[in-house]
Amino acid sequence: MLKITPYLGILVLIVSIGGLWYPPLGYFMLLIFAAIFLISPFRGRWFCGNLCPRGSLADFWISKISSKKKIPGILRSLWVRIPIFLLMMGVMGYRISSVIGTLNAFEKIGMIFVTICLVTTAIAVLLGSYLSPRTWCSFCPMGTAQNLLGGKRYQLQLEKDKCISCKKCEKVCPMQLKVCQIETKPDCIKCGRCVSVCPKDALKF
Ligand code: SF4
Ligand code: SF4
Ligand code: SF4
Repeated sequence: MLKITPYLGILVLIVSIGGLWYPPLGYFMLLIFAAIFLISPFRGRWFCGNLCPRGSLADFWISKISSKKKIPGILRSLWVRIPIFLLMMGVMGYRISSVIGTLNAFEKIGMIFVTICLVTTAIAVLLGSYLSPRTWCSFCPMGTAQNLLGGKRYQLQLEKDKCISCKKCEKVCPMQLKVCQIETKPDCIKCGRCVSVCPKDALKF
């Protein structure tokens, strides 16, 4: 986690609420897409745990109202996540292509991005407060894309001889991963919380 990570959540509110009055704010989403596709082939889901504004919103805002229940396993399945990814890309592509060439297309496309940001944030807040803060991040299309592009990159390393199975790492993991039980974790968001909390320095990147 970076020093700036806790403050990034405000950007979600600026884009999804401010964008209703000033649609070009929606183009901020393109910056997010670009960062995701540049970083993930080398660092997997590092963006999710360090730079994503909605991830920050989940960890530092939604967590305050969350009932912190278990994230249903079905939401982590690629059989569910890939169709959600394709659906969202399809809807976005269709809506953008339908306004290209019309009057005020620049603002209209910006508003499409704003709407996507607003709707997905609303879902993230609802699921995050009812279940666990990062529930949305378990099946978010951009998280799925990062999983597929670089899920095996920059893996967390466990020194098994140092581990005392205290499970403190698993208690702090925002993605509710089996930190010290599974070696390859393509949905690890590289937040580093498990590394910080381990009393035996058994974890590192
Ligand atoms: S899964 Fe999606 S919303 Fe969550 S941190 Fe990653 S990109 Fe952001
Ligand atoms: S916190 Fe460290 S010692 Fe405890 S279970 Fe996790 S890796 Fe092992
Ligand atoms: S395994 Fe560690 S670094 Fe990865 S998401 Fe969980 S707490 Fe963060």
